[in-house]
Amino acid sequence: MASSCLIVGAGLAGITAGRRLREAGWKVTLLDKGRVPGGRMATRRIGQAVFDHGAQFFTVRDPRFQREVDRWLIEGIARTWFKQEGHTRYVGVGGMNSIPAELARGLDVHCSIHVESIDKGWQATARSGEVFEADALILTPPVEQSLALLPAQIPVALRAELLTIQYLPCFAVMAATTQSSRIPAPGYFRPESGEVAWLADNEQKGISTVPSITIHATPEFTAAYWDAPRDDVGNRLISSAAPWICGEIVERQVHRWKYSNVTGVHPERYLCVQDPQPVLFAGDAFGGPRVEGAYLSGLSAAEALLAL
Ligand SMILES: Cc1cc2nc3c(=O)[nH]c(=O)nc-3n(C[C@H](O)[C@H](O)[C@H](O)COP(=O)(O)OP(=O)(O)OC[C@H]3O[C@@H](n4cnc5c(N)ncnc54)[C@H](O)[C@@H]3O)c2cc1C
Repeated sequence: MASSCLIVGAGLAGITAGRRLREAGWKVTLLDKGRVPGGRMATRRIGQAVFDHGAQFFTVRDPRFQREVDRWLIEGIARTWFKQEGHTRYVGVGGMNSIPAELARGLDVHCSIHVESIDKGWQATARSGEVFEADALILTPPVEQSLALLPAQIPVALRAELLTIQYLPCFAVMAATTQSSRIPAPGYFRPESGEVAWLADNEQKGISTVPSITIHATPEFTAAYWDAPRDDVGNRLISSAAPWICGEIVERQVHRWKYSNVTGVHPERYLCVQDPQPVLFAGDAFGGPRVEGAYLSGLSAAEALLAL
């Protein structure tokens, strides 16, 4: 029986799986190509301004996730942003990334490790040449990226089925301004048409002490302008958002999310292949999209591994 596990991806799914396995006494190693854990629960600082540029908030429908979120509320790492249509919108205190950053504390997380290939056994080789080994493997990157790590080990039919899972692309523009925005309380706006899908005021949201807005483009605009110079994309989205912007823009950055929200989610919360040692696919593409889906998938994958 396996008692060590490599987890590729230290987003919420990977961290949740890692915490559950460690609780059960397993040796767990998490590898992530990012500079910090958290994946798409991302927060960036530019000067004094703070931006959530990936996930903006999360909702809860499943009682297991509600229990976890209640713990985050008590520990002061999450709080309510606003309530709408019967659902509370929660955010990380200080930014969405503070939640995975806090949950990853004490786990063996190796950041800035870009896994390039995985051999049976399991043995992951990073771009840096470092090699990591364990009996079991959990893959939590977007499915296409996970499959690229295992070119030969996954049956052709399963690979084809997994490749039907799609992700929408999204440009995120972060703009620090000299004056507070005109975005209405509680700090977000969804235009009904045009190139902008979502606008957030990070100052009203309570994560930035200075004026700071996040602009998300629609998937259609992002796909059409994917290869355009970032400056042109930034100019265009800022001019679309002009009615909500006040004062001058002092700093701005454009981030390109190739994988933002998942569409065509796999019906199961994880997918396990035994070859002969187990490899499990998990993440928000399994069982339910969004932050909640990532948590439940990571938890279910770990519990499945413990039950083998
Ligand atoms: C712009 C945007 C807006 C969103 N808005 C919302 C929202 O409002 N509400 C909501 O609930 N959800 C939202 N989401 C979705 C939410 O962020 C995700 O569902 C959730 O964070 C996914 O977590 P995960 O652990 O499954 O994947 P991820 O967070 O993507 O984690 C996967 C990790 O794998 C790592 N990785 C990939 N390949 C490799 C490799 N080869 N080697 C090492 N590491 C690798 C990545 O660096 C990443 O950290 C949004 C996402 C984006 C991008």
